[in-house]
Amino acid sequence: MNQVLVLNSGSSSIKYQLLDMADRSRLAVGHVERIGESAGAVPDHAAGMQVVLRELEGRLDRSVLAAVGHRVVHGGDRFHGPTLIDDEVCAAIKELIPLAPLHNPANLTLIDAARAAFPDVPQVAVFDTAFHQTLPPPAHTYAVPAAWREELGVRRYGFHGTSHQYVSRRAAELLGRRPEEVNMIVLHLGNGASACAVRQGKSVDTSMGMTPLEGLIMGTRSGDLDPAITAYIARRTGQSAEQTDEVLNKASGMQALGGSNDMRDIATAAAGGDPGATLALDAYCYRIRKYIGAYLAVLGRIDAVVFTAGVGENDPDVRAGAVAGLEHLGIAISPKRNAARSREARYISPFWAATAVLVVPTDEEIEIADQALALVG
Ligand code: ADP
Repeated sequence: MNQVLVLNSGSSSIKYQLLDMADRSRLAVGHVERIGESAGAVPDHAAGMQVVLRELEGRLDRSVLAAVGHRVVHGGDRFHGPTLIDDEVCAAIKELIPLAPLHNPANLTLIDAARAAFPDVPQVAVFDTAFHQTLPPPAHTYAVPAAWREELGVRRYGFHGTSHQYVSRRAAELLGRRPEEVNMIVLHLGNGASACAVRQGKSVDTSMGMTPLEGLIMGTRSGDLDPAITAYIARRTGQSAEQTDEVLNKASGMQALGGSNDMRDIATAAAGGDPGATLALDAYCYRIRKYIGAYLAVLGRIDAVVFTAGVGENDPDVRAGAVAGLEHLGIAISPKRNAARSREARYISPFWAATAVLVVPTDEEIEIADQALALVG
């Protein structure tokens, strides 16, 4: 029983990986896109699952498939760790749809399709929110009326938990310490982006909130802003709350400031002197620096600042910009180490710095597979 199939569904896509956990190798990696978009192609996630099964033919061996691991975006305050899926768990994920109206329904339809395809294989849900369930009340509480908090579930949940968990553990390994011995700030900078304060292996604060909109500036999301802006825009333009929400999620962030959601385009434009792209980069790095300062205060003492995901792993300029001016706090980068290209987990701080600055490639699929396998034994 050495194979694990990891499934990750968006509203119109399915990403999958088939892993051989005996040697932790990838037997297959792929994705099905544009589900439900054009008539005829792939009408829904059940049909998408059939495409996945066809693509896996010859590589997936049902007799050694130990588990199917599902990434589920929102686990609310119900799910604190990987969970064996049954009808009751599906019903709970369904009840959480109001908190994640785009993601949880897609996750659920894929779970249904996978349960139908593999009726005898245990299916495990791994939640993006679970790692952050250790946030203490002062960190996860919004100062809003009790009815909102108690009846409507308004609180900070945090996301990217699987990545923050994996990366913080790998970072501790790189430091040669046990996770319970170290404090760190993890910066997951991908299309979505979030910072996480990790104390002794546990998440104690994170920048995404009730939804993935809060916190750092992202590819197309604004991150932090004054919540009164939504009402202001509604008054001035007649836009509905739904429309403003869409703009803040899909047409803001680097896209709005610099003209692209891809950091590579922003860097090229900024190098060519484009003022919008330059401001976008400066604002992006400034926001990260502000969170480093905040989480330094939260943690009191840190052993490492860790960069991960598409931007964090590949963009030395963003890494340098994010920690610029923090030398007096013991946080510094060696230009030579920072510029070196590598796919390995590595140090980019100079030998004299009190705090390690690390780049640790994330791997959410292997983390999901590990958690699923650990649960099913
Ligand atoms: P997701 O959040 O969708 O998993 P990733 O973590 O893969 O995304 O991050 C994707 C983003 O990483 C891209 O949109 C791009 O901005 C950025 N990126 C990828 N490669 C590079 C690179 N070489 N330099 C700068 N940014 C990069």
